[in-house]
Amino acid sequence: MRQLRAMPLVDSSSTVLSPAPASAPASTGLHLRVGKLCVALQGHTPAELFDRARALLAEARFFEFRLDALPKPAAALPGLKEFLASRRDVTAIATCRRKENGGNFAGSLTAELEILLKTAECGCHIVDLEVESAEEVRPAQLARFRSALRVAGSALLISFHDFTRTKNLEHAADRIEAFQPDFMKVVSTARQLSDGLAVLRLIEARSLSTHVVGIAMGEEGLISRVLGPRAGAAFTFASPDADLATAPGQVSVRAMLDLYRLEHLDQATRIFGVAGNPIAHSLSPLMHNTAFRREVVNAVMLPLKVRILEDLLTLARELPLAGVAVTMPLKQEVLPHLANMDPLTARIGACNTLRTGADGRLYGFNTDVAGVVRPLEKRIKLRGARIVVLGAGGAARAAVFGLVDRGAEVYVVNRTYENAVALARKAKAKSLKQEQLAKTRFDVLINTTPCGMSGVKQALPIKENELNAGLVFDMVYNPLETPLIRLARSRGIPVIGGLEMFVQQGARQFEIWTGKPAPEAEMLRVVEMALRRHG
Ligand code: NAP
Repeated sequence: MRQLRAMPLVDSSSTVLSPAPASAPASTGLHLRVGKLCVALQGHTPAELFDRARALLAEARFFEFRLDALPKPAAALPGLKEFLASRRDVTAIATCRRKENGGNFAGSLTAELEILLKTAECGCHIVDLEVESAEEVRPAQLARFRSALRVAGSALLISFHDFTRTKNLEHAADRIEAFQPDFMKVVSTARQLSDGLAVLRLIEARSLSTHVVGIAMGEEGLISRVLGPRAGAAFTFASPDADLATAPGQVSVRAMLDLYRLEHLDQATRIFGVAGNPIAHSLSPLMHNTAFRREVVNAVMLPLKVRILEDLLTLARELPLAGVAVTMPLKQEVLPHLANMDPLTARIGACNTLRTGADGRLYGFNTDVAGVVRPLEKRIKLRGARIVVLGAGGAARAAVFGLVDRGAEVYVVNRTYENAVALARKAKAKSLKQEQLAKTRFDVLINTTPCGMSGVKQALPIKENELNAGLVFDMVYNPLETPLIRLARSRGIPVIGGLEMFVQQGARQFEIWTGKPAPEAEMLRVVEMALRRHG
């Protein structure tokens, strides 16, 4: 299938709306400078709305005022006029979407047009009219509205919204194009990653002839929000902060600028993803984007919510993705789709890292092994070490295979004993019943169960009297200080926290993807800070 068109490098942070792209309709002739990122604002009162705008001026100069979110949109007009008069550096969009078109404005179409025109007279640079309204209004009334907008110096944006799915985008765009507005905005709802891809394609195609904005709402549509301008969109939207989103999946302005570095994304930017479900709280984007920035690698990592693997594979092929960090529940399922993998990954039967080769095919690696082995190797000699692994799931597999590979004597203990036996047999390790733990001494005890993780009821994976080891390694890293780590410390036993593993496996991913040494200290610092802030 066709890959997304290579766009010219965009090195400025704004688009000048004049002249319009090659075959675009005769436009307003406006000389309008729009940034890449518009912050969508709403408030319960006009005062709250403009206070929010003022509070954001340090990071944004481009706002959408969702007047329909106010009980009386017209009440915002004096404040709007005053705000825009005092801030000539701000670009503003006014929206007053009617209820029947997915907004909150209960008034008539004529009332909507009146309010929008007044926003233009108050200094708004762009007014947003739903395509349904444009189609409903009599042509003569629309023509009068448009010429009044022109007199006021405002541009017309015509928008389409589908709040349930992503379908017939071309048809939606054609409906808008029939009116030859200054901007076209097509917003759909993503149910899968491919929906975001469909929106990016639309942007690419339509941006040749018009100023286009395209968004696929929802978590699965994130790629359209972040990569839209890179594909040719005039701009994209953000929320003031995570709690004040005006649309599903909207990303905060800070995350857009700092985490995804929207202003720096260009056609040379390599796109990476962390794929899984759930994925919204993954710390991988923070860790890797920080590393990319620190090492001056032109790349970005995005969280990719994947319900079915085929969706991820399509995106990887067609965007294309340069690499993927694979998390639950895809680590095993992805194996048959790899062109090749390293022998240990094949033996473990789980892959957490994909790299797209120059041939466009996917190559698989397992850096979880390094995540376990490296922190241990820094502290003890693994050959001959007696190590007990608690748990027999995915994380345990990487630990057991990796440690056996390094010559350790590995014992598996698990809630469901048969799973311990099965893993031990496959990895040439030994299984052990939990009752034997108290009387057996180990060099290392590794917890790979979720016990102690925030939100998990069971605090300790073993009874207190069963802790009989020279070193404790807890893979759980949220919270940073788990009950097992606390217990070990209280006994004077040295510990390794799960964060060290997380950073080590991420550092190896970084090296596989970039060929550069990973800035481990910086990766650790930002992830630890985020965990302390939110943990
Ligand atoms: P998994 O595949 O679901 O396996 C979980 C294992 O823990 C199973 O063997 C399960 O036993 C056992 N278990 C679950 N609940 C238990 C309980 N209440 N008491 C005793 N045993 C229990 O999960 P996973 O992918 O291996 O992940 C396990 C943990 O490791 C998670 O907390 C994850 O966050 C952490 N992890 C950390 C890193 C890192 O970088 N630090 C990397 C990977 C994973 P049964 O066989 O009886 O079901």
